[in-house]
Amino acid sequence: MVRHDPVHGSTPINPQALPTPVLRSIPRDQHTISRRDISPNALRVLYRLREAGFGAYLVGGAVRDLLLGMHPKDFDVATDATPEQVKQLFRNCRLIGRRFRLAHVVFGREIIEVATFRANIDDGSGDREMEDGRLVRDNVYGTIEDDAVRRDFTCNALYYAIEDFSVRDYTGGFEDVQARTMRLIGDPETRYREDPVRMLRAVRLAAKLGFSIEPATAEPIPRLAGLLGEAAPARLFEEMLKLFLSGHAVASFEGLERHGLLGALMPETAAALRSNRSGALRRMLVQGLGNTDARVAADEPVSPAFLFALLLWPAYCRALAGLQAQGMQPEEAQRRAADRVTLHQAQTIALPKRFSLPMQEIWLLQSRFSSRQRKRVFRLLAHPRFRAAFDFLVLRLAASDGHAADVEFWREAQASSGDELSASLEAAAAEGEADEPGAPRRRRRRRRRVATAGE
Ligand code: ATP
Ligand code: MG
Repeated sequence: MVRHDPVHGSTPINPQALPTPVLRSIPRDQHTISRRDISPNALRVLYRLREAGFGAYLVGGAVRDLLLGMHPKDFDVATDATPEQVKQLFRNCRLIGRRFRLAHVVFGREIIEVATFRANIDDGSGDREMEDGRLVRDNVYGTIEDDAVRRDFTCNALYYAIEDFSVRDYTGGFEDVQARTMRLIGDPETRYREDPVRMLRAVRLAAKLGFSIEPATAEPIPRLAGLLGEAAPARLFEEMLKLFLSGHAVASFEGLERHGLLGALMPETAAALRSNRSGALRRMLVQGLGNTDARVAADEPVSPAFLFALLLWPAYCRALAGLQAQGMQPEEAQRRAADRVTLHQAQTIALPKRFSLPMQEIWLLQSRFSSRQRKRVFRLLAHPRFRAAFDFLVLRLAASDGHAADVEFWREAQASSGDELSASLEAAAAEGEADEPGAPRRRRRRRRRVATAGE
């Protein structure tokens, strides 16, 4: 999808940044893309465009994924027909986007995105606009060659032609796919400056595809990481979801670390991980991301709130420790730490309230798991965020086994009926009352206390 992409093009700052496209056509018998693997709706769109005399190509991630034997999640089409011409061909078509006009052909739940070839030249019409080296408007149409070189990576710039089923390669992408290499088209530094989000796309696609990032493409990333601070926070939020909720969260996280991007995205988490010498917080994070990947693989739901609770937990712990060291009461400190971390993080990544509020609840509920008071136990069990908070508690075992007894207690509490739970809590409370200091059961009581200590 390119809707959020203000850039999606090449650069007028340095015309040398883009290579001259040279066509290599790979005939049907020399590649593995079969029409059987292409969505029937995408084929319909391709054939209709072709019948009307237009060029019609499958493009981008779909071609790349098909060459790799993967199932594309969406099928994008590129054509020399203008959006208006596309609209005339399909009744089920709507035009979207102002900065980047596109046609959407709608088939029930499937949308085939049809984009007109774009050029990288400024024709002075105002259809292409730059701001500080960044592209904010990109509606100058061009040829397929123009369209190929303004894309980001060579593996994303391949075209499958419906007219002869060949793959058209203008940038060497076919070989790079075979070699499993991410290579930026043109001069890497210029292209990252033009759109810093490409640094994240490099890491994300490498993680998703199991590609390596070619040295010249990787080299500028740590140097330019700071430019991400200038990217639109809403776009970064979407990119975060793609990085961490697409089934490759662990590889994405490690890639971000390796290429020096973590600090630019989540400065406070990066700082907290650095100062956590034991590595316990990092262990917990990686464990949680691994669970997320397993859930995605099993087709189970994953939530952005839980994800961000995990990613920002190190930052929260650090902020909390700081406030408590200043003598602030625990509850007050927890609330302040949660607000502070959320506020600071929002400067880079726009986390919508519908996710940041439950994220904070997951954090704040953590301190309530040590209570065994009957009323509180039942209130916590009935809390709408109980399950997420409990799962989070379980995850914290990866950092420290100090919560093992709590995990045990709440696991049993969920498994037992209300009456059973009531009875066992009352029995425990009675036992506690009988346990006056100096009473014969003192030793036992002390052991219990240690075992149930929460934090
Ligand atoms: P995914 O598997 O995540 O869908 P994708 O490569 O299809 O990966 P999209 O965001 O769907 O990614 O973009 C579709 C295509 O648009 C890309 O393959 C690429 O050719 C082009 N593109 C996307 N973002 C950019 C960008 N920031 N700069 C240049 N080209 C881009
Ligand atoms: Mg895509």
